[in-house]
Amino acid sequence: MQTANDKPSLPGLIDMDAATNSFNQLVADRVGKIRQLIDTHATRPCKLVAVTKRFGPTACAAAMAAGVDDLGENYAQELAQKAGEVSALACGEPTWHFIGHLQRNKVKLIAPHVTLWQTVDSERLGTEIAKRQPGARVLIQLNTSGAETQSGLDIEAAPQLVDVLRSTGLDVAGFMTIGTMGDIDASATQFREVRRLADDLGMNECSMGMSADMVEALKAGSTMVRVGTAIFGARPDNAR
Ligand SMILES: *Cc1c(COP(=O)(O)O)cnc(C)c1O
Repeated sequence: MQTANDKPSLPGLIDMDAATNSFNQLVADRVGKIRQLIDTHATRPCKLVAVTKRFGPTACAAAMAAGVDDLGENYAQELAQKAGEVSALACGEPTWHFIGHLQRNKVKLIAPHVTLWQTVDSERLGTEIAKRQPGARVLIQLNTSGAETQSGLDIEAAPQLVDVLRSTGLDVAGFMTIGTMGDIDASATQFREVRRLADDLGMNECSMGMSADMVEALKAGSTMVRVGTAIFGARPDNAR
């Protein structure tokens, strides 16, 4: 156990312990509020994934201290580095979710860390994941907004990819989607559509809902909300 006496004391400088404690308290308060939203609106058991992209290992530790062990990252390099940094903090091992666009040549780098691959949208990517982490648990990312800029598979093509990925040995557990930014009604419709498809195919997991649209996602039957800003505040602009 580390005690206060183990820490270097630098009189006159910022009291880092106090700063850390108040940040941890803020995170815990926000996590508590989000858990209340989940309790109020969820129509099925729903997990909270804290999105730590562009925040450092202390943010990860704060989420874990607040009881959130599921952490989501968007960038392979950043996840690999942060996984090591979080381990070094000895605050426990989180469950890492990969939630960003993934290039095949980055799969190997993060395969030792990732527990749920949320953004599979092609046979090529799935095959690489199956090679690096046989039997991996994956979600298929669906592009439900139709926006060209959004990654993910068209909903019509999803049933076939489920079959193809299963034939590679992957554990295909459901779908992930990002609702249309700034259009809550459109997002709600998309979330219901994804839920219906998952139900039709006998799959439970629907990773949907972010800070701005989590209530709509919960009402539609999300089993996993991915929340960054509402827990940690605005992200720093500069990518780590
Ligand atoms: C950044 C991100 C989130 C979290 O977004 P917030 O609006 O900060 O809650 C969730 N999902 C994905 C895929 C993201 O890229």
